[in-house]
Amino acid sequence: MSAKPGSRWASTKEDAELEAKIKREKEEKRRRKAEKARKLEEEKKQAAEAAAAAAQQDQDDDDDGRRPSKRRKLTPDPKAAGDDDDDDDDDAAAPGKLLRFETGTWGKCRSVENYDKLNDIEEGTYGWVARATQLATGKVVALKRLKLDFGDRSGLPVTGLREIQILRDCRHRNVVDLEEVVVGDDVTRLDNSIFLVLEFVEHDIKSILEDMPEPFLSSEIKQLLLQLTSGVAYLHDNWILHRDLKTSNLLLSNRGQLKVADFGMARYVGDPPPPKLTALVVTLWYRSPELLLGTRTYGQPVDMWSVGCIFGELLTREPLLQGKNEVDQMTKIFELCGVPTEESWPGFRRLPNARSLRLPKNPLNTGPVIRARFPGLTAAGAGLLGDLLSLDPDRRPSARDMLRHEYFRQDPKPKPESMFPTFPSKAGQERRRRHEPHAPVRGQAAASLGDADFSSIFQGRDQEERGAGFSLRMV
Ligand code: ADP
Repeated sequence: MSAKPGSRWASTKEDAELEAKIKREKEEKRRRKAEKARKLEEEKKQAAEAAAAAAQQDQDDDDDGRRPSKRRKLTPDPKAAGDDDDDDDDDAAAPGKLLRFETGTWGKCRSVENYDKLNDIEEGTYGWVARATQLATGKVVALKRLKLDFGDRSGLPVTGLREIQILRDCRHRNVVDLEEVVVGDDVTRLDNSIFLVLEFVEHDIKSILEDMPEPFLSSEIKQLLLQLTSGVAYLHDNWILHRDLKTSNLLLSNRGQLKVADFGMARYVGDPPPPKLTALVVTLWYRSPELLLGTRTYGQPVDMWSVGCIFGELLTREPLLQGKNEVDQMTKIFELCGVPTEESWPGFRRLPNARSLRLPKNPLNTGPVIRARFPGLTAAGAGLLGDLLSLDPDRRPSARDMLRHEYFRQDPKPKPESMFPTFPSKAGQERRRRHEPHAPVRGQAAASLGDADFSSIFQGRDQEERGAGFSLRMV
């Protein structure tokens, strides 16, 4: 048998070498193409998994997958669902649970390479935020990187998944807009980052309060509260609890528009709400007494308590209740809002952390002192603040009730947004440093109030003294 004939094009040895080289190059090109396709597939899979897990998170509440929906959502019976335990907040992220797989837009996440970073804004609890421009349009946006969790729950924490899901569903002028979700450039890495591309808003209210030489005017406070409450009413109408309302999560544009941000603690709830939510939510200074007392059945009033704390902070430029830990937080709440009784808060003793609390025996002088602490507020304003800071969650107004409150109809009227002052934007400059507790971190154990002794918190004080010591301008 003769040797296999060479290619009819390879008439010389050099030709044969050239032909082999071309072949090798072709093969290399094919290999690179296959690798690229594999990376793309990986990228799609990651994004789709993120969306799928987020969808699972809310599967309990919603079966048609379209949100927000104003219809009444029913929380399924956990037993019927075979969910015999605990906090569905945690269960949803448990490994091995079947995920509802949602295909669609999430399989087509673009790369973060479409954006050019300008400067860091803040390193937050669950992520990092930077100002960036979209290369194609020059539009300025905020990029928020979601922290990944490679502990026992691998990948994107459920908080990040919910944040994506909820922001994707929300569209309201007082809720920050999510433009898209993009993925980091190295899609072959397992710990590749996921970024939220958010509309860029120049300020957050905490930074403004820290820097402003004069407090907000009463008319400005009313406008800010109205916008905050509209955003919260929209969330509550759509069965979303924010669970981390605080001034650093309220953005303010140069056009006087307020936007609720940071949905890392938020979740959908049904009606009635799931029986066992996690009590470890909301940054300590804004956390309601029922959460501190360990309730796992709660609802919209937890956000309304935070709105009350924000109202107080807008008035004084200082966070209202700055506890050093859970017991100290509870003490500060009792000092301002009074000590609970069966009359002021029926059934509070049944809450997990309330059973062995020691409270002052003498009920005299243990009532709320909100009016005394805010002498500059009108009766309507103090009434609203007092209602928001009711110990009993059922006595707090809903966001819709609050929008109709007399306080907003009284003079001075809310200042129109267009007449709001502008402030120098810190987000366009250096990174911000915060001096406040962070939102609780998932998986951490809540400090128990156990048998904390509050029995002597009012000792040596009379009503007047407790009202004194607050310098407030007239509003
Ligand atoms: P984390 O969940 O990590 O705490 P946040 O969403 O609260 O992150 O953002 C942290 C900070 O970043 C905010 O307090 C705000 O100052 C800034 N920030 C967040 N979103 C935006 C935005 N869309 N535009 C401008 N700044 C933002």
